[in-house]
Amino acid sequence: MARPAKKPLSKKKPKVLAYDLGGTKVSVGVIDSSGKILASHREPVLISQGKKATLDQLARLGLEMIKQYPEIEVAGIASAGPLDPERGDLLDPTNFKGPDGPWGRTPITSILKKRLKIEVVLENDAASALLAESWQGLAKKFRNSMILTLGTGLGTAFICNGRLVRGGNSSHTEAGHMMIIQDDESALCGCGNYGCAEAYLSGKFFAHRARKRLKNDQIDAVQIAARARRGEKAALALFDEYSGHMATTLHNCYRIFGPEIVILTGSFAAAYDLFIPQTQEKLRYLMRRYLDLTGPLPEIQVSTLENQAGLLGGAYIALQKIGAL
Ligand SMILES: [Zn+2]
Repeated sequence: MARPAKKPLSKKKPKVLAYDLGGTKVSVGVIDSSGKILASHREPVLISQGKKATLDQLARLGLEMIKQYPEIEVAGIASAGPLDPERGDLLDPTNFKGPDGPWGRTPITSILKKRLKIEVVLENDAASALLAESWQGLAKKFRNSMILTLGTGLGTAFICNGRLVRGGNSSHTEAGHMMIIQDDESALCGCGNYGCAEAYLSGKFFAHRARKRLKNDQIDAVQIAARARRGEKAALALFDEYSGHMATTLHNCYRIFGPEIVILTGSFAAAYDLFIPQTQEKLRYLMRRYLDLTGPLPEIQVSTLENQAGLLGGAYIALQKIGAL
């Protein structure tokens, strides 16, 4: 009997499973090594039902995708932190609290590895978004980049000379808790300190400051932005203050890491027209003595990946794990 012909080497692009796990929504998708999203699904995350319900949900969503794409060998999770990317553990994420209390240290990668029967890797969501930007988005052309995620919190990540910046013990950098004005009692941060960049720049804290200033408990960030676009002075003043704190934050980051591009993402980035031009002007002022010496200041741009950056970032770390990138 003739031996079966040797199976030709597959020309197919490797596919991976990716998760984008946040405090309110979870996305899961299948992405190939060219960055094409072949399938994706998004739903509210079951954190309010507890840790077990959430982990069951992640396993169920992953298994449904693996059923359609049985060739998948690895999954990457982009998650809200804090977390330990090297060990693959969540470290009691700030916004993960259910009826059974805070999550504590949760070995999410080993739990899902058992349930999905594939390798699982983990990365901070801001870091994942920046890796996605350098793979498929605005940071592609740059070796030095940074991202600010302007949502409930202020996520930050930096790529320096082509590599993601890590702290000691493989920790993720938390520049959102860099202090802008120490002991500013008007700016209590979620971390318990006063005057962190996050306490001025996250969408949640911007709205919080604005409500106090405008003496209006109901107004949200979208409504304040609409008022500013109509030219209302009090609303414009809030964005002017915001751009000052943004310029200080970017100045400090620029002095340390020298990014060539700053990418803004998260829901509050939609108000970019109300603060980017002023931020650029204030940053130029803060750098005035060195403008001719240090080269151009970083471009400040809003991400074009919309809400896919988390999934693409999860896919990126998974593809790296199997050596496909
Ligand atoms: Zn803080």
